[in-house]
Amino acid sequence: MKIICIGRNYADHAKEMNSPLPSAPVFFMKPDTAMLPAGNPFYIPDFTNDLHYECELVVKIKKAGKHIPENFAGDYYDEIGLGIDFTARDLQTACKEKGLPWEIGKAFDNSAPMGTHFLPKTALNLTDLTFTLHKNGELVQTGHTTDMIFSIDKLIAYVSQFITLKTGDLLFTGTPAGVGPVAIGDRLEGFIGEEKLLDLQIK
Ligand code: MG
Repeated sequence: MKIICIGRNYADHAKEMNSPLPSAPVFFMKPDTAMLPAGNPFYIPDFTNDLHYECELVVKIKKAGKHIPENFAGDYYDEIGLGIDFTARDLQTACKEKGLPWEIGKAFDNSAPMGTHFLPKTALNLTDLTFTLHKNGELVQTGHTTDMIFSIDKLIAYVSQFITLKTGDLLFTGTPAGVGPVAIGDRLEGFIGEEKLLDLQIK
């Protein structure tokens, strides 16, 4: 399986990163070694001094497809979860400044921790869904699907023009404003609506 991550899908986050709004989705990938199963702590790697959380809605792909039309994209997923797109911001920024790929800052081991479970999309209103991230009990990120620049269906249509989606692939759909650093001892808790899906200890 593979993890496809969307960048700059919320205008307020693009603004906080001083990035222009994209006219088409921006995506990058993480390998399967970026997975960190729920329940495991996250250990800050020693190659970064500025590790940031980015809480994102995650779409689990349920069947293979290529060149998926937007109006059929809904047939390709039926579960939504939460994940953290951990980013070594210092390394990513250095890569961006040189016009280089970002992998060392984004795709490292365990950089994509997942929540404990996914929710069936039939139980959710995807056009008006709110998710939140709390750090040490304090609200730090609030995302609304209404603020996505590109909807989930648009993202699937776009990405599948270039890359065949397979069963079990994960699509991280971008982060809202409020990204920030984590330190040893922090606790991250993520919610879709009122339901807690993610509880991650930083070590
Ligand atoms: Mg992200």
